[in-house]
Amino acid sequence: MRGGKPAGQEAMVPEARNGSLEATDEVTTDWLIETVQSELLRQEPVIGREFVPLGRMSQVTRGPGGVLKVFFGVRCECRTSAVVSFEVASDKTRSAVLEALPQTGRQLLGQREAFRNMPCSSHDRLRSRMFGETS
Ligand SMILES: [Zn+2]
Repeated sequence: MRGGKPAGQEAMVPEARNGSLEATDEVTTDWLIETVQSELLRQEPVIGREFVPLGRMSQVTRGPGGVLKVFFGVRCECRTSAVVSFEVASDKTRSAVLEALPQTGRQLLGQREAFRNMPCSSHDRLRSRMFGETS
């Protein structure tokens, strides 16, 4: 008995996959996609699977004010798909991203929700428009 540690506290941060915690703390788009995706699955095991990572679309701008932007595709029953996106400042560390991860997950789930709550007649008109451009 060690005691003192409240249960459930470690649920926050996803463990490094296969124990492969890399030496770098630099955020890459691949890492970001993988991390965000596992967070989505953690929050919503079923809905999370609807998010298709669009790795090829990811964008990186380094330097001051630079951002990393990653995209996921989501889809409605009417077969319209939309793109949801998430970005972080490129000078953020992995631990900073992990800290904000629960919020990130909710944000993306919210973007999907907004898309799914729209009537399919609007989906028709919307087709390839991007989500997440609000700021
Ligand atoms: Zn629809």
